[in-house]
Parts: sequence; structure tokens; C-alpha cells
Amino acid sequence: MSENAIIENVIILGTGPAGLAAALYTARADLRPLVLTGTDLGGQAALTDRIENYPGFPQGVGGSELAELFQKTAERFGARVEYETATGVDLSKPPYKVLTYDKEYLSKTIIITTGASPKKLIIPGEKELRGKGVSYCATCDGWFFKDKKVAVVGGGDGALEEGLFLTRFASSVSIIHRRAELRAGALLQKRARENPKIHFIWNSIIEEIKGVDSVNSLLIKNIVTNEVNTVNIDGVFIFIGHLPNTQMFKDYLELDNKGYLVVDQRMCTKIPGVFAAGEVADGLYRQVITSAGMGAAAGIEATRYLENLEK
Ligand code: NAP
Repeated sequence: MSENAIIENVIILGTGPAGLAAALYTARADLRPLVLTGTDLGGQAALTDRIENYPGFPQGVGGSELAELFQKTAERFGARVEYETATGVDLSKPPYKVLTYDKEYLSKTIIITTGASPKKLIIPGEKELRGKGVSYCATCDGWFFKDKKVAVVGGGDGALEEGLFLTRFASSVSIIHRRAELRAGALLQKRARENPKIHFIWNSIIEEIKGVDSVNSLLIKNIVTNEVNTVNIDGVFIFIGHLPNTQMFKDYLELDNKGYLVVDQRMCTKIPGVFAAGEVADGLYRQVITSAGMGAAAGIEATRYLENLEK
């Protein structure tokens, strides 16, 4: 470390609700947090068409609009958002190091809010046809399927919400679920069941996604009868949950048995000055409001930690 190296007070990794709430709280403590956006600007919330369960928006709010409002709020108090992706960290001793493709940052505290990425089915055709009919984001790609037939995989809130969104474009939406009972909440279930464009394929898994330059069919197996059918389809949207983005931290920090970062009630990891919040550290709730709450808590705790350092 050169003598003149700048040491930040707080570096926040990620711009989902947790990261930007942490940025707001540390900015209001006059710590001028540096936020490195990563590749998924605004996090998963920004990819959601409409968020109806974030208080204060009785008509709901667009996911990207909410992400933009979060960012503006944090920036108003001095948070600095840089369009950089962290590629590695060194948390062996303070000041902690964050590496990007071409820079190196040092900071007294780090708040990890790197979120989670969509889980893959890991079946033939999935990787090969990604972007050619295989998608993990309805708001990004739904438009390409105007008047076409699409399938959605999963039975949780994600699958139903995105499936409902896809009915705006697609002529039909087949929801393929591995059980005969949905995991999604009651309201989404009611909306999906009442939508004439949606139908369900129960107790079924996709064995293969077929197509050359684009998806044209799915090999679907009923796991109760073992019957396998080919279903013609133009696109398949996979919403089977998420995996926390912890790759960079696993050599330093503890992960639970599902791969989430372990934090205590105060969002502290086992390394002093390193905090984590939002979906990277929350396998339970994974909501915009809970992530924002965790981010706020991490921001408060990082502020306290820095105050104690100075004493
Ligand atoms: P989730 O709740 O974990 O649901 C994943 C779904 O995919 C489940 O139905 C699961 O089946 C199925 N699945 C998992 N692995 C599979 C595999 N390998 N093959 C086939 N199916 C598979 O995930 P999510 O829907 O993404 O939701 C994540 C969290 O975000 C939840 O807490 C949810 O409440 C929240 N969320 C909320 C909203 C909202 O409130 N509007 C919207 C989106 C997400 P099983 O049911 O058989 O396990």
C-alpha cells in the first residue's frame, strides 16, 4: 500500500435495496460511502415489472423506478455510485481491499450486498439456447415473445409473478411445476389461476430444451406417470429460485448450509468491519423491504464501528 493511498470509510458492494439503503444510512452519517454497482444495477428488484408490497406506493411501483429512487435518495446525501464490478477482495486485515478489473480500492469497512443470481436447471439445451429463447428475466425478454407460446418453470412467487407479466405479450403461458401444489402466495395463485392465458403442467420437469438457433420444443416428463412428451414452445423462462453471490468471500467468511453469508443480528460477519445484508445473507425472507431493512442496519452498524475506531 502506497503512503498516499486513499482509504475509504465504507465500500458497499451492490446496488440492490440492501446496498442503497446502507448507502443512504452511511451517507447521512457523513461517511461518503463508495458504492460499486456490479453488473446488475439495482439488483433483482430492478428487473421486477411492478412491486406491490413495498409500503408507500399504494398503486405499486416499477422495479427500475424504485431502484432509481433508492439511488437518488442515497446520492442526495453524498453516496458515490461507481459503475465498477468487484472481481476480488482481500479481507485478511484492515484496510480491506476490493479489486475491480483495473482498480484497487481500500476501505476501513465493507458492506457486502451482492445479492443472488437465478438458479439454473442444468439440463441439455439450457446453456446452448440462453438468449435464444431461454431466459431468466421476463421484464428483460418478455417483449420478444409477442403472440408466441412460452413456458415458465417453477411454482414460487417468482414464477407466478413473471408468468403473469408474460401474459401481456405471449399467446399462452404454460407453468411447469415439479409438484401439484404451488409454493407461491395466495394472491398470486388466485391471479394466475384466473388468467385465461395461463395453464399449469403439474408434477413435471423439463428433461431437455430443444432447438438450433432458437427454442422450438421441450421434452417434458411427468414424474408421477414417467410419461415423456414433446411440447412445442417458443421460449422458456426459468424461475426456480436464486443462489447467493458469495464466490469472492468464501475464503474469508462463513457460509450457512445453503450458501448464504452468516451474519449476526447486527449484520456483522466474523470479520470486524465487514458487514453483509440483503439476499446474499438472507435465505429466509428475500423481499425488497427486508433487504432494505438489513441494509439500513448494516449502515448503522458500520457507522458505529467507525465511531468506535476513532475513540
Ligand atoms: P422460491 O420461492 O424458492 O421458489 C422456487 C420454485 O422453483 C419452487 O416452486 C420450487 O419447487 C421450484 N424449483 C426449485 N428448484 C427446481 C428445480 N431444480 N427444478 C424445477 N423446479 C425447481 O423462489 P422464487 O419464486 O424466486 O422466490 C424467492 C423469494 O422471493 C421468495 O421468498 C419469494 O416470496 C420472494 N418473491 C416475492 C415476490 C412477491 O412477493 N411478489 C415475487 C418474487 C419473489 P418446490 O416448490 O417443489 O420446492
